[in-house]
Amino acid sequence: FLDITQLKILQEQLELLATTDSLTGIFNRRHFIELSEREISRARRSLAPLAIAMIDIDHFKIINDTHGHTVGDLVIKELVALCKDDLRPYDLLGRIGGEEFAITMVECDLQKAFTVSERLRERVANHVISIDGNDISIKISVGVAELAGDMESLESIMYRADQALYVAKKLGRNRVEKSSLGPNRQ
Ligand code: GH3
Ligand code: MG
Ligand code: MG
Repeated sequence: FLDITQLKILQEQLELLATTDSLTGIFNRRHFIELSEREISRARRSLAPLAIAMIDIDHFKIINDTHGHTVGDLVIKELVALCKDDLRPYDLLGRIGGEEFAITMVECDLQKAFTVSERLRERVANHVISIDGNDISIKISVGVAELAGDMESLESIMYRADQALYVAKKLGRNRVEKSSLGPNRQ
């Protein structure tokens, strides 16, 4: 039999497993979406802006091919550390795919989200990761979008940020692109 304390510890461990990504410790996709839905409701009530940034590592396959998957994993962890360092404590950072991340920036409009993302992009590009005597550097592309109007869903704003990310890739990578749709327009 387990006592109450053991049960509590077990419950906490289960919750951590269900909500976080095991490699990086940040929110997994599902939990990121759940928390972001909450932030969108809150932003609507308080009429505050909210923005989402989608991040994808540039040419990450080359890192894996050159240095191996284990080193690739370490690089992902290092990127997450840089992201965490750059964000405010109430922003939400999630791993939404293998080497894809999303940030929900609360009380943040499109221009501010662009500035924050641009600063992060530059920091990442200038950062050297030393693993097993190898100096590795990576670059990221980012798409940002601001929540539009009263009706826009999380799915829609994430889709628009993803489209902007796609444009950033198309235009040569290592850059931040804004979703062309401005606030208060559907
Ligand atoms: P692009 O600039 O177009 O994004 O090029 P890319 O090479 O980064 O292409 P893409 O984003 O499509 O592919 C990502 C690669 O990342 C494919 C996969 O092997 C690798 N990857 C995904 N998840 C992980 C992971 O958890 N660990 C490691 N080491 N590699 C991963
Ligand atoms: Mg990708
Ligand atoms: Mg990539």
